Amino acid sequence: MVISRQISGKIRSARYLVEAFLLPFYFLLPWLRWGEHPLIRLDIPGRKFYLLGNIFTPQEGFYLHLFLIGMGLSLFFFTTLIGRVWCGWACPQTVFTDLFDLIGRTVLGSKYGKKDAPLFGKVLVHKLWILVSILGALAWVSYFADPYEMISDIRSASFFAAPPTWIYFVLFFTMTLYLDMAFVREQFCKYACPYARFQTVMMDADSVNVTYDYKRGEPRRKAGTQVGDCTACNLCLVVCPTGIDIREGVNVGCIACGKCVDACTKTMGKEGKKTLIGYMSENQANQPGAKIRWIRPRSIVYGVLLFGVAIVSSVLLYNRVPLYANVLPDRIIQPMEIPGGIVRNFYNAQILNMTFQNRNLNVSVEESTLHSPVRILLGGTEVPSISIQQNSSQDFRIILEAEIKEEDLRKTSHQITLKVGDAENKNYVLKKTIPFRIPIQDRN
Ligand code: SF4
Ligand code: SF4
Repeated sequence: MVISRQISGKIRSARYLVEAFLLPFYFLLPWLRWGEHPLIRLDIPGRKFYLLGNIFTPQEGFYLHLFLIGMGLSLFFFTTLIGRVWCGWACPQTVFTDLFDLIGRTVLGSKYGKKDAPLFGKVLVHKLWILVSILGALAWVSYFADPYEMISDIRSASFFAAPPTWIYFVLFFTMTLYLDMAFVREQFCKYACPYARFQTVMMDADSVNVTYDYKRGEPRRKAGTQVGDCTACNLCLVVCPTGIDIREGVNVGCIACGKCVDACTKTMGKEGKKTLIGYMSENQANQPGAKIRWIRPRSIVYGVLLFGVAIVSSVLLYNRVPLYANVLPDRIIQPMEIPGGIVRNFYNAQILNMTFQNRNLNVSVEESTLHSPVRILLGGTEVPSISIQQNSSQDFRIILEAEIKEEDLRKTSHQITLKVGDAENKNYVLKKTIPFRIPIQDRN
């Protein structure tokens, strides 16, 4: 595991500012409420996703697909333009590494990361790391379980006698975070992170990345002789959190954190020169003064696809009806004829109310291929309707009956479109087309 040397500089300060915003954001977000409901939560046992006052269910899985496609495309788009800026500036792995290093340096000072650090200090650092890992795991699990309920679970007398399920996940993620930060760190970025693996395919010679100006730098200073500008101080190497040498070219281990930029800015500053390492494209390193080509085939393709997904998602979300209805013919009770030439079909229906208001829903026939009116038997009322509680689903039986005319017998099955809608709000309307079958004995 690499414990890199501390370095100050403009980039380090800017990253501290970003991290000072991100860390409270990671920790506090699950505690925030939208009215009386969570601002964001993935409730796996309840099969619901709460986001900004909306409830999404697995029936709307296409939103998840669009979100993942959008995330993938934005990764492609931004990596093409500005390289692995996510890794070095916003990835939780990097942000937590900096937090853990801050603790280590606060306790051990210059001895942090050294073999001769005092044992007491090392033990204290690991204890504090475990404490932060517990807090990090609690924050992570809070995205899946109600943090307020977790607190009341902890306060309850039965907490130790009958531990709630979430505690096992907290223990697992505490162990994972601690082991990652105390023993794995840069190995994860280098060998386990899938993004690092395919970043090279997304970048080209115009992508902005942390790059070494080898034209100015090489050949490096050696035994008092200086040919290029690089003094071979190796400061860029010792500050690197992933332990790579950026002077050897683009490396899969580089997370674009910019620590080597600050290091070289310091070294070159002492000689009154400009840094040899900076955020620039490969073309700029090859031809000093070259401009970055932001608009190029690769960025246009990714940008257009990303824009397309954003537009489709926005239109779908704007037109979204937070109701779901599933109506299926009853498999046990077959269609039957009753006196008067009337045919009855039986259906099992499920309606999901994905809003935070109770709703009274009317069910009516919108369209039918039958030649006589269709009657709905539901709930025993004149206007077929159903009351459904907020944020819940309800199963019920629908019976449709219609007088069968001679011309209806030419088909074995007809189509009926049901309309399920909230009488008080015209925006909450669903349409569902279902089959209406003619009993075998009645067919021609
Ligand atoms: S090479 Fe530089 S930018 Fe890349 S990870 Fe190392 S210090 Fe960070
Ligand atoms: S910090 Fe700059 S001068 Fe020092 S070794 Fe790295 S590239 Fe060369």
